[in-house]
Amino acid sequence: MKIIITILAIALILVAVALLFSIRRIRELEIGFKKADHTDKMTGLLNRDGFMEQGELALKAAQSRGEPMFLIVFDVEELGRINTFFGTDVGDEVVKAFAFAAKAAVIKGGISGRVNTDDFAVLVPCSGNAEADEVTNVFMDAVMSCFDNDTLRENVNFFAGVCEFDGHDDIYTMYNKASLCLFAKESDRRVSFFTREMEDSMVEKELLRSEMLAALETGQFELYYQPKISFKTGEIRGLEALIRWHHPTKGFVPPSEFIPLAEKSGIITKIDEWGLFTACRQSKTWQDNGMRPVKISVNMSQSQFYRTDVYSTISAALAETRLDPKWLEVEVTETMAMQDIDRTISVLNKLRELGVSVSMDDFGSGYSSLSSLKTIPLDILKIDRSLVCDLDENKVSKQITNAIVELGKAMELVVLAEGVETRGQIDFLTEIGCDLAQGYFYSKPRPAKDIESLLMPLIS
Ligand code: C2E
Ligand code: CA
Ligand code: CA
Repeated sequence: MKIIITILAIALILVAVALLFSIRRIRELEIGFKKADHTDKMTGLLNRDGFMEQGELALKAAQSRGEPMFLIVFDVEELGRINTFFGTDVGDEVVKAFAFAAKAAVIKGGISGRVNTDDFAVLVPCSGNAEADEVTNVFMDAVMSCFDNDTLRENVNFFAGVCEFDGHDDIYTMYNKASLCLFAKESDRRVSFFTREMEDSMVEKELLRSEMLAALETGQFELYYQPKISFKTGEIRGLEALIRWHHPTKGFVPPSEFIPLAEKSGIITKIDEWGLFTACRQSKTWQDNGMRPVKISVNMSQSQFYRTDVYSTISAALAETRLDPKWLEVEVTETMAMQDIDRTISVLNKLRELGVSVSMDDFGSGYSSLSSLKTIPLDILKIDRSLVCDLDENKVSKQITNAIVELGKAMELVVLAEGVETRGQIDFLTEIGCDLAQGYFYSKPRPAKDIESLLMPLIS
């Protein structure tokens, strides 16, 4: 009996030990799993959840010590474009370079993490804005030190949003504020510090954004048309469609106020699509009513050009409205065309094959290389208003304008001067052989019904 009891006791002890071990193993696995769950696989940095958890603890510690802390969010600029054009291997290399820089930034203390696919965050003790700014410089140097070729150095950039710990905010609030800086960035500055005004203006912008969506649905947008006039004959050779917003309470809102925001918030592609269909439909209606047909031009935003299938949209607009492609022109700005010259060439070639004309808008305001210009398929060169408005008194503007007209002629393009307002400008532009003029001297942009009288009916 004694032996049996001893054996049973030993067996019980063995079972208990085994149980203890397996519980410990499960705990270990759980901890390991939790850790893995908080780690970004590619970079080994904390992921979003991990960063937030550790960040909250770090803030509490800083609060009790009265230590100043800064949260900096680094947004890799156009990682998607890098992946598309250079391949995902290169994209991964860029991500790893940012991870390296994020680790380097907290070498003296703080925490770092990859909080989104293309966002890195560091929470660091800094004495003030100047030191936080310095952290971003060190960060950039560390990113660049990872690349062994100039192509990557030239194509990789980031924006940083910075938020100082006010002693009360939790990590999520700070993160939202730093992210707001990224969204609110208005200048070309790489680093932007959170301010109360920024928050207020963001609320206003958010309101404007939803108002723009409502405006599309309720027909508050209207296209005005500005004539393009031949210097030689004084005839209308084309019309540029320019959007106008009749806001229910604010009244008239100029495009300079809402187009940049529409561009930032992604609504511009919807607005441009509306503008394209409306302009094509209007042009066809005029023709069907027996008016003299003229080319109608529409402005294309950077987002529409690079982020949508413009060729399909334009083909669809032409098919739906039954407008002959030869009466449609698209305006792309110089700065936009030069962003990605290969894509520009391929898209514009397809549009021209379709029979649509292409003009380069705002020419002379950007920094295009003239050698690239000759490779871009174009029909019309539009000289920027900033040059034209100076013609009466600025000799250099005259010389540049003359050179642009000569360049256009050499490339067999039609050259148009934008913003023509005075007789003096007309005399000079006619003398140097500029083909077309657009400007207040002839006509401001006008609603469709006012344009009709200018498009003389065809006499059959
Ligand atoms: P833009 O494409 O360069 O259009 C020419 C602008 O110059 C128009 O301003 C026009 O009203 C103005 N303008 C024309 N002649 C004169 C002149 O003699 N003197 C002066 N001071 N200004 C003149 P608007 O209509 O305010 O449009 C501003 C910009 O907004 C346009 O510049 C274009 O970039 C953008 N935009 C307008 N409509 C659309 C649209 O439907 N889609 C897109 N993506 N952008 C648009
Ligand atoms: Ca234009
Ligand atoms: Ca222009």
